[in-house]
Amino acid sequence: MNTSNRLRIAIQKSGRLSKDCQSLLKQLGVKLNLREQRLIAHSTNMPIDVLRVRDDDIPGLVMDGVCDLGIVGENVLVETQAERERAGQSNAVKKLSKLDFGYCRLALAWPQELGAQSKDWFNGKRIATTYPEILKQYLVKENIDASVVMLTGSVEVAPRAGLADAICDLVSTGATLEANGLMQGDTILESNACLIQNANLNDDSKLSLINKLLPRLKGVRQAKE
Ligand code: ATP
Ligand code: ZN
Repeated sequence: MNTSNRLRIAIQKSGRLSKDCQSLLKQLGVKLNLREQRLIAHSTNMPIDVLRVRDDDIPGLVMDGVCDLGIVGENVLVETQAERERAGQSNAVKKLSKLDFGYCRLALAWPQELGAQSKDWFNGKRIATTYPEILKQYLVKENIDASVVMLTGSVEVAPRAGLADAICDLVSTGATLEANGLMQGDTILESNACLIQNANLNDDSKLSLINKLLPRLKGVRQAKE
């Protein structure tokens, strides 16, 4: 548990969500002194500390109460929840808000030269992904008997490298798939960044700070519409 009396928020250190997270905090009025290499940034005007980590670590840090809040893609949240469920670990979080950035979809794709394929084609095939739990749930639901190859990066080169027949990867514009000669199929999950809170947070001063920030967040989101 985070026993500090400062609200601790986990965000991605560097990657597709970091810029948007930093500007969101700024729009919420949280002043930060973000020095490049620091793990923790202290707010200079509110009792808030920002922990900058890999996005994959964010749901777990919030579930375990190491951080009170976190900003993470739903894709990573759903995968971590399923992983922890399987391992019998606590996986509850309170989802406070969906955010207006980090949009992407987790979709199936296969080599273009094979042309359009039905779901049946996947039977007996190997599918490479960074999201094995989400993919396995989809395969069970669709009654597809395929094997899952877990890769933490460069999933889009797996078919060409002979590591898999197809992939299940994050797509936003589709340019990466196209550049790798892949054809996009079914979307398994649509994802946005979201703000999550530890499910057991009961510190009154932290809760009242969160209650002050949430209307501001709503204001920022409405201003964007
Ligand atoms: P880290 O070093 O923090 O583990 P990463 O390489 O896993 O970073 P990024 O590529 O920075 O992660 O993506 C972070 C999140 O951004 C994704 O989990 C997803 O929610 C979102 N995202 C939005 N568009 C895309 C996209 N086209 N490809 C991948 N992720 C995307
Ligand atoms: Zn990651």
